[in-house]
Amino acid sequence: MEKLKTTKQRQAILALIERSGGAVSAEELYEKMKSEFPKIAVSTIYRNLERFEETGLIVRENLSDGRLRFSPAAHHEHYLICTGCGRKIALSDCPLEEVEKTLSRQTGFLISGHSLSLYGICPQCQSRQKQ
Ligand SMILES: [Zn+2]
Ligand SMILES: [Zn+2]
Repeated sequence: MEKLKTTKQRQAILALIERSGGAVSAEELYEKMKSEFPKIAVSTIYRNLERFEETGLIVRENLSDGRLRFSPAAHHEHYLICTGCGRKIALSDCPLEEVEKTLSRQTGFLISGHSLSLYGICPQCQSRQKQ
């Protein structure tokens, strides 16, 4: 029973991070979790965040004001960026998941995240250049 409750809380925290779109702080997560789990402790939030980070589900960001923010590692976005007009198009999935797994196996690294953007000229800018 205790285990089930913990699992539910874990899933709820993860879902909140994923739904946050960008990054979310532990305090924000705590406020949101309280509505669903009134008895949840801040320490539970922190413990889960640490666990998620260790397993590579989320990445931690240190803000300049000293606060921590967390964002989902698996559901990050990659973009095609047009150098002509600045348009950004999000890729529908991550082309690096397999690369991460292979590298992790080969090097023993616990990989917690990556970033990748592709630059080029969008179709609109291409046709503008032809005119
Ligand atoms: Zn463009
Ligand atoms: Zn990726």
